[in-house]
Amino acid sequence: MAEAIRKENEQLVVPDHVVIPFIEGDGVGREIMPVCRQVVDKALSMAYHGDRAIEWKEVLAGEKAFRETGDWLPEETMDAFRRYLVGIKGPLTTPVGEGIRSLNVALRQTLDLYVCLRPVRWFKGVVSPVKHPEKVDMVIFRENTEDIYAGIEWKQGTPEAQKFLRFLTDEMHVKNIRFPESSAFGVKPVSVEGTERLVRSAIEYALAHKLPSVTLVHKGNIMKFTEGGFKQWGYALAEREFPDRTTLPGAEANGKVVIKDVIADAFLQNTLLVPEEYSVVATLNLNGDYISDQLAAMVGGIGIAPGANINYTGGHAIFEATHGTAPAIAGKNVANPSSLILSSVMMLEYMGWHEAANRITRAMERTLEKGRATPDLARFMPEGEPLGTAQFGEALIQEL
Ligand code: NAD
Repeated sequence: MAEAIRKENEQLVVPDHVVIPFIEGDGVGREIMPVCRQVVDKALSMAYHGDRAIEWKEVLAGEKAFRETGDWLPEETMDAFRRYLVGIKGPLTTPVGEGIRSLNVALRQTLDLYVCLRPVRWFKGVVSPVKHPEKVDMVIFRENTEDIYAGIEWKQGTPEAQKFLRFLTDEMHVKNIRFPESSAFGVKPVSVEGTERLVRSAIEYALAHKLPSVTLVHKGNIMKFTEGGFKQWGYALAEREFPDRTTLPGAEANGKVVIKDVIADAFLQNTLLVPEEYSVVATLNLNGDYISDQLAAMVGGIGIAPGANINYTGGHAIFEATHGTAPAIAGKNVANPSSLILSSVMMLEYMGWHEAANRITRAMERTLEKGRATPDLARFMPEGEPLGTAQFGEALIQEL
């Protein structure tokens, strides 16, 4: 009988037959999720001949949940992710004016998924706007719970904004607000704990995957206490918790992970000029948002960029397509399922089921190299053969 993944003595325990909850997703989710599950099931049966398998458990969120239960994010869904630890989701419509800022944010906050993990690599055959996309091979650890993204802000012209302004001017003696009466305000909390758990995860990842460096990307030159704090606490953590396994630039690496830092604007420039200098990247929430999308664009766009939101401490993780519901192409059998499929590869790796994960990655490499892809990618390939969503899934399965 299939069981839940659990965490024991700080280790993830993955039974051979596991229950994985999934949210189908809205819009193109209805097309890409079935293809993703088919590819994963086939890869598992080829890699493990029935000794390891997933029992998929559908849980509701988004439009489907609202239609069937009147609730955008039912409590049963949250319970399933709490109980089974690891799950996967398609894209969800953001409800407008329903009191929920975003379903994704609600899931991340409730489960305290503090790492937004985005690996970025190029697949041969995919047309890229840069000359050497093969040099882009990075894993972004974006802090997911703090920063200006925490949603602490006050609208211009409200009594709250006025009150906050009075606090700043009267009690904190702030003098340099250029247009005080017409300003909206936002607060940027960045903590020692928030930084440390993110940077610790990034270093552990680099060590586990034998990667050469972790780069702390920040704007500490301007925001000295928040972004500067991130840099300072990141270095201090590496020195305190990983003294024998990390080193600083300039010293002999000897298999140690080099910890370095770079200012965010220089980093964005360098990703175009010298992407090979970066491997694992640890950064704050807002920087991470920009960086992830730029890097995704450099290797072929959002249709192919996978992602996950993870709490490495408790083990909870939700793997997800990074794009939205793409309403304009929904129901037309043209959506690219690669983002979700590569997210499922990340999920299998997280579970330690590497053989199945590698099979899917290799099948993706071979399929794209032959110019077989959904229209979003095929239209740019010189010999591209556009395939529908389902047909692309079949092509992948042939290559497994
Ligand atoms: P989007 O990602 O849905 O679409 C942006 C562009 O990319 C569109 O041109 C779309 O056709 C294309 N695209 C996206 N996914 C594709 C795929 N798999 N294959 C081929 N082309 C693809 O972003 P949007 O239009 O800003 O948002 C639409 C809805 O999705 C909104 O309700 C938004 O809130 C939601 N959204 C959800 C998530 C999520 O659940 N993680 C993320 C972003 C947006």
